[in-house]
Amino acid sequence: MEDLKMDTLVSLCKRKGFVFQSSEIYGGLNGVYDYGPLGSLLKNNIRDFWWNEMTRGDDNIVGLDSSILMHKKVWEASGHVSNFTDPLVDCKVCKSRFRADQIDLNAACPTCGNKGTFTDVRKFNLMFKTNIGSTAADDDSSVIYLRPETAQGIYVNFKNVVDSMHEKLPFGIAQVGKSFRNEITTKNFIFRSCEFEQMEMQWFCKPGSDEEWFDYWRRKRISYYSKMGIREDHLRWHQHGPDELAFYAKDAYDIQYKFPMDWQELEGVHNRTNYDLTQHTKFSGKDLQYFDQETGERFIPYIIETSAGLTRNLLMVLSDAYDEEDVDGDKRVVLRFHPCIAPIKVAVLPLVKKDGIADKAKLIEKDLRSSFKTDYDQNVAIGRRYRRQDEIGTPYCITVDYDTMKDDTVTVRLRDSMKQERIAISEIRSYISAKDSEYKRV
Ligand code: ATP
Repeated sequence: MEDLKMDTLVSLCKRKGFVFQSSEIYGGLNGVYDYGPLGSLLKNNIRDFWWNEMTRGDDNIVGLDSSILMHKKVWEASGHVSNFTDPLVDCKVCKSRFRADQIDLNAACPTCGNKGTFTDVRKFNLMFKTNIGSTAADDDSSVIYLRPETAQGIYVNFKNVVDSMHEKLPFGIAQVGKSFRNEITTKNFIFRSCEFEQMEMQWFCKPGSDEEWFDYWRRKRISYYSKMGIREDHLRWHQHGPDELAFYAKDAYDIQYKFPMDWQELEGVHNRTNYDLTQHTKFSGKDLQYFDQETGERFIPYIIETSAGLTRNLLMVLSDAYDEEDVDGDKRVVLRFHPCIAPIKVAVLPLVKKDGIADKAKLIEKDLRSSFKTDYDQNVAIGRRYRRQDEIGTPYCITVDYDTMKDDTVTVRLRDSMKQERIAISEIRSYISAKDSEYKRV
């Protein structure tokens, strides 16, 4: 829906069990969220779609699951200890905290309206600190960080992967996992949170082939979103200008999505050169060069990174799917998820409970569970049950009625068109798989 408001999504997410504020009964924790029954299903489906695309497609990509806690030196080598900062100011009167690059420092405080009350701008490191081991908490040697990105876990395991899997360049390592950033401003719901998940793939290639691979991954990543059913006119590229480009990067583009608040970054595709492995070579003293057996050359590979937020993808998917329409004078809310990521794929609904119809419907639902995530609902009028499923984005509803008892057929009702078709129970699986493959976002 074009003029979708974030508040509409926030309230739907809470009402329908997609996303809750963390620790809500204690007043909530800013910038931290919990994913409810439907939210966790949706998040897992988005993750699996990405993971399968990366590790089971045509590209040579292996998976990894590295830990959140890493050696302190990793973050010294990566530059995060000294540079992963945002400029911060506080209002001396109301104590509100702002990112200095996001407000006008000559204007009044956006919270209390006082003028001239900002502190000097200072650097604020976004990494969360913790302590490891049984040494005293204030002992500096025990300080470690919660990872602010998953990528470093890939770089430090590059040699392990090459040696254990005998990978030849070019190849990729993909990873999905939690990252943590002590963000100063966490507005816009789950868009920017302090605890979030990333889906990152690092593509290792020979220096000189990097520009070609960079173009290749840009093409692949944008078409990926169309495959997931995202509206193409809500996606665009943003190339990093000289003021944004990291000093070591050769080129960088963000895929931006038109979120309810604005166009904002969804994923980054970056040519990181050989910077990361060079840094880890320097700081660890280990040789991280790749030996090319065909040419006999040794070199540090270049890296093309594709870095997407999983939780930000979930917000994007919800924003893209949300629609309202007028049906016979009533508002119909519908989430038009691509069937491959919808939290519930099929709902089975008995027209009435009596005369064995509910029992028959339960049997059908139980049988479908081995293939799909299903739901069963026998309460309230059938029309209202369809609307409930529309609101959580279930693409297929199967209705069991008196005819089912006679001829083993059911009605399939499609979420987007609301059209209904009569099919045999034995055809349900093949019908759904055919409909899935021809799915087009309306
Ligand atoms: P921004 O400029 O918005 O702070 P970034 O450029 O620092 O983001 P990256 O470090 O490139 O972001 O992270 C890669 C991806 O991880 C982003 O495109 C985004 O999808 C996701 N991401 C980064 N920070 C957050 C966050 N605080 N909450 C949710 N997702 C995030």
